Amino acid sequence: MALIIKPGRDPAENWIKAINGKISDLEIRVWPDCGNLEDIEFALVSHIPHGELARFPNLRFVASTAAGVDELLADPDLSHDVPIIHGVNSERSDTMAQTVLLHVLRYHRHLQVYGEQQSRHEWKRYPLVPADERRVGIMGLGALGSVAAARLVQSGFDVAGWTRRPKTIDGVTNFHGADGLGPFLGRTGILVCMLPLTAETEDVINANTLAALPKGAFVINCARGAHLVDEDLIAALDSGHIAGATLDVFRTEPLAPDHPFWDHPRITITPHTSSQGRAAFGVDVLVENMRRARAGEPLVNLVDREAGY
Ligand code: NDP
Repeated sequence: MALIIKPGRDPAENWIKAINGKISDLEIRVWPDCGNLEDIEFALVSHIPHGELARFPNLRFVASTAAGVDELLADPDLSHDVPIIHGVNSERSDTMAQTVLLHVLRYHRHLQVYGEQQSRHEWKRYPLVPADERRVGIMGLGALGSVAAARLVQSGFDVAGWTRRPKTIDGVTNFHGADGLGPFLGRTGILVCMLPLTAETEDVINANTLAALPKGAFVINCARGAHLVDEDLIAALDSGHIAGATLDVFRTEPLAPDHPFWDHPRITITPHTSSQGRAAFGVDVLVENMRRARAGEPLVNLVDREAGY
């Protein structure tokens, strides 16, 4: 039987090297050279065209190489009987935590303002705010958000997280559900979006939620472009209510050359590079699930189709 791979940023040969020797009786094929479709037992994919996975009649599961599974869930041809496995990768969580810390520190230590002053040759100091007086709020404490939250706590910030259900992380104040959103936003000076993209979370950063943040708050979106209503952010920046935004993800990627985000003086853009995880750091969950599937044991790190993540 065979595993078909359509890799993401880390090339197929790295996955093959990481998997080899860890499970027996497994041929590894690289999409689009699928061979006999009936041989395909497992799929490890990133950005695979909709309809492709439905061609494999004996597919036991599909594992995502990416953290976000919204594209897979949107495949209308993928049977609900085929379980989807989250792309868990410790290096990806670690690099995302670095990115979040980097952007939080940049706002915390006034680097946006000092950059603007430099362009005017202006020398003006702002008082240091102690980290424990800087309130950071992370929307979503999942595989990535929980590690980023812990990293911020380690760095001394006053951290809260907003989740769907109550969640306990050392040092992190938790708010959950629709009722928790208002109080969470009201205490958040730097908002970080780390939510999965679902029907419930699409457009979650909009005119109302931005207005619920304290004046002068910053926004960091490293999750998905569709979490943010673009024009609402621009209006909130232009009114001065929001002081700056860092965006790594966009509704359409690459970001269109004429998009107003590019030239906005208070928007920092990165080209979807917040986190990366090499195959070697993501292979264990895949191998464990292949073993479990063959042994008839329950799979781990399953996507909850009903919740949409
Ligand atoms: P997870 O699926 O692990 O995140 C789930 C978290 O979000 C949980 O805490 C969950 O709450 C919470 N959540 C889900 N729905 C809601 C809701 N309706 N209201 C409140 N909280 C909710 O995601 P990951 O951590 O793996 O990924 C986070 C994001 O990062 C994704 O959008 C992913 O696509 C993106 N990403 C971006 C990358 C980049 O380079 N920019 C790279 C990799 C990922 P609960 O705990 O209650 O279940």
